[in-house]
Amino acid sequence: MLIAGNWKMYKGAHEARRFAAQIRHLGERTPGVDVVVCPPFASLQATLEGLGEGSAIRVYAQNVHWELEGAYTGEVSPSMLLELGVEGAIVGHSERRQYFGETDEWVRRRAEGALEAGLSVIACVGESEEEREAGETYAVLERQVASLPRHERLVIAYEPVWAIGTGKTATPEIAQDAHAFIKTLHPSAVLYGGSVKPENAAVLLAQPDVDGALVGGASLEQHSFEAICAAAVEAAAAA
Ligand code: PEP
Repeated sequence: MLIAGNWKMYKGAHEARRFAAQIRHLGERTPGVDVVVCPPFASLQATLEGLGEGSAIRVYAQNVHWELEGAYTGEVSPSMLLELGVEGAIVGHSERRQYFGETDEWVRRRAEGALEAGLSVIACVGESEEEREAGETYAVLERQVASLPRHERLVIAYEPVWAIGTGKTATPEIAQDAHAFIKTLHPSAVLYGGSVKPENAAVLLAQPDVDGALVGGASLEQHSFEAICAAAVEAAAAA
């Protein structure tokens, strides 16, 4: 079971350091659950410092380029992340796909470059509201998942775009159905993401093919993030 907090474009270095220091012992209280936080690039170093040596919480970036260096203004390479002590990266988040033109091909290249360099990867897939309503969910998932490499350090996050940051959560049945479908296509673990909160975490994480969660808004606050991690511990123990 994996719980990853995506801080999106929140928490500058000062706040990230303070928040990381508050949650630094959380990973010791989560048997069976790996805890990851994904700060913005500019706050990675401060987060690592706030967590300090020996924290069980791991730090991932929210994106990564596929080359180790080069003329790619505004991008950050896998080796730069590794040098800081960052252990992985999200790729293909729907906000990147929606607002920054991220394509399946780029997501594949980012995932492959990161894995080759030694990072872990959380690769996001998921259909939009229009695609779901048009009955295209499986076709979209099939296309997106087909672009992902198979690797032991890659996990998929199923994040229906209509449920991200909207307060609309997929029902446990919708999540389970999509996760089971993804698992017919790809051997990796599958996290659920989309308005996961303390109130709905237990029922989502209890689904047989839900292997954890990628949490946005509710990961920004200590009590809600800790409550979701506690729900994951229960779900891991019951599995
Ligand atoms: C996310 O950012 O990946 C996410 C799922 O956001 P939220 O939990 O806020 O919907």
